[in-house]
Amino acid sequence: MSTTPAAPRPPLLSTADALATLLAAARRVDGAQTVDTFEALGRVLATAVVSPLDVPPMRTSAMDGYAVRAADLAGASDASAVTLPVSQRVPAGQTAEPLVAGTVARIFTGATVPPGADTVVMQEMVRADNAGATFSHVPPEGEWITRQGADIRRDSVILPAGSRLTPQALGLAASVGSAALEVVRKVRVAVFFTGDELTMPGEPLRPGAIYNSNRFTLRALLSKLGCDVTDLGIVPDRLDATRETLRRAARDHDLILTCGGVSVGEEDHVKPAVEAEGRISMWQIAMKPGKPLAFGAVRREPADQNSGESYFIGLPGNPVSSFCTFLLFVRPFILRLAGVEAVEPRAYAMRADFTQKKGDRRNEFLRAQVNEAGGLEVFGNQSSAVLTSTVWGDGLIDNPPNHAIQAGETVRFIPFSELMR
Ligand code: AMP
Ligand code: MG
Repeated sequence: MSTTPAAPRPPLLSTADALATLLAAARRVDGAQTVDTFEALGRVLATAVVSPLDVPPMRTSAMDGYAVRAADLAGASDASAVTLPVSQRVPAGQTAEPLVAGTVARIFTGATVPPGADTVVMQEMVRADNAGATFSHVPPEGEWITRQGADIRRDSVILPAGSRLTPQALGLAASVGSAALEVVRKVRVAVFFTGDELTMPGEPLRPGAIYNSNRFTLRALLSKLGCDVTDLGIVPDRLDATRETLRRAARDHDLILTCGGVSVGEEDHVKPAVEAEGRISMWQIAMKPGKPLAFGAVRREPADQNSGESYFIGLPGNPVSSFCTFLLFVRPFILRLAGVEAVEPRAYAMRADFTQKKGDRRNEFLRAQVNEAGGLEVFGNQSSAVLTSTVWGDGLIDNPPNHAIQAGETVRFIPFSELMR
């Protein structure tokens, strides 16, 4: 009997190496478009926004009160109050006359400070009657005045190219008068699902079938990232059908994302199909959940308008695996395609309030919740099929290979809020 020893398995790629490989391959999509600032939420700036003006464009009052020359009030105190005539009234949106010496101006929040005034006294410190305004407070010079350009200086870059437009970024752009913004065109992603067991919610579940939950999770994740998504539905577990769908998807998409069928069983046709229609450049990562992740490219037919290739990422079918690999790999990859430079989620050093006696050979991503004591608990069942853990959790603990966790030690925690920004 032959006793040939099994060939040693090559070590799996580390998560850090896998991410570096993906990001190194990601090239920003071509094309920009001008969109109304109202419509630009979540888009990525193709061109920096440079301010054509100072913000605020003039000196403004930060309070309802009286604009004064501080020197005129130098004698005011509780014992000896100073009374000065009110020579003008400046509401917001109006221009102001130079302040007549020895007088004050009634002023409101956001209004232009009259030339010559150097300070605003809030109205709560002032008594006003026919004789004028009586001050019992010696204000420091400059109090309650917002200087011209205090927020933004003219000609400064307020939002660099590659910025993702948050609600506050839209407000900032609008504050310098930008009614439209130049953004990168949306990344076009085709997604399909493999598995003859998959049934759509709304249909009766036949014996042996399960609902296609990943279709909902992944589509939602893609639209949250601002992608243009084509959902090609469920593809049968057959090589020809998978190849045909890949070819169709490559035609006019930047990225083809698949779910399931990328493991090692005879019913897993995605990897051979991609190899036949393009290439696989990376497969299997030392992580848990999510080991069978695959990366590569699918050729476009020469007749297609957009010749070249479409990127391919194959996600494992297990719901927790596809969710985690999307957050950790697909998200940064898509952001890079969209021209975003900073794609790493922020992670926090936090205390583990649990013990995990054994580490895993692979880099684990444990679904964890922040407890009231500010520590972390983990979900009891960390199986990659248990989707409940992803709803219960607030994020992932990034636990290095072969590392047991002692209660009280500090672990690396990545909140879902960071992974879904
Ligand atoms: P696979 O990666 O195709 O070997 O699938 C791994 C596991 O995930 C199997 O138990 C599948 O039934 C399940 N699965 C695959 N695709 C989906 C999906 N779209 N939604 C929910 N579960 C799935
Ligand atoms: Mg399958």
